Amino acid sequence: MREPLITLTCDCGTTVEIGYGKVWTCDSCGKTWDTNRIPASEYGALVAAVRRYRLLVLGPPVVMAAVLIPLSVLSGLQYAFLLFVLIMGYGLLAVPQLRRRSAAQMQKSTKSWKLRPE
Ligand SMILES: [Zn+2]
Repeated sequence: MREPLITLTCDCGTTVEIGYGKVWTCDSCGKTWDTNRIPASEYGALVAAVRRYRLLVLGPPVVMAAVLIPLSVLSGLQYAFLLFVLIMGYGLLAVPQLRRRSAAQMQKSTKSWKLRPE
């Protein structure tokens, strides 16, 4: 699973998105930034929030499919139709709410870290 990227803004205004643990040297001014200076526990909290959101969005449709696809094979296509309706309903009704809540949460928990150039 891809880890969330960190947006790094250099003193000169250049912005780059890099993974945690990477060291980046700015192309325009040559300063070097080390994301290892971000406390691992704080980055870990961000990763956990992203994982929780993905699990909430992807988990229920996967479970529904795991139950209803075998049923539709064994007992008829009405279950495939039911699966389609459930997944559409979930995507249209539940996912936007989850996304909103998760975005608000992340905004609250995501700090902007002040790093020093090396
Ligand atoms: Zn720079």
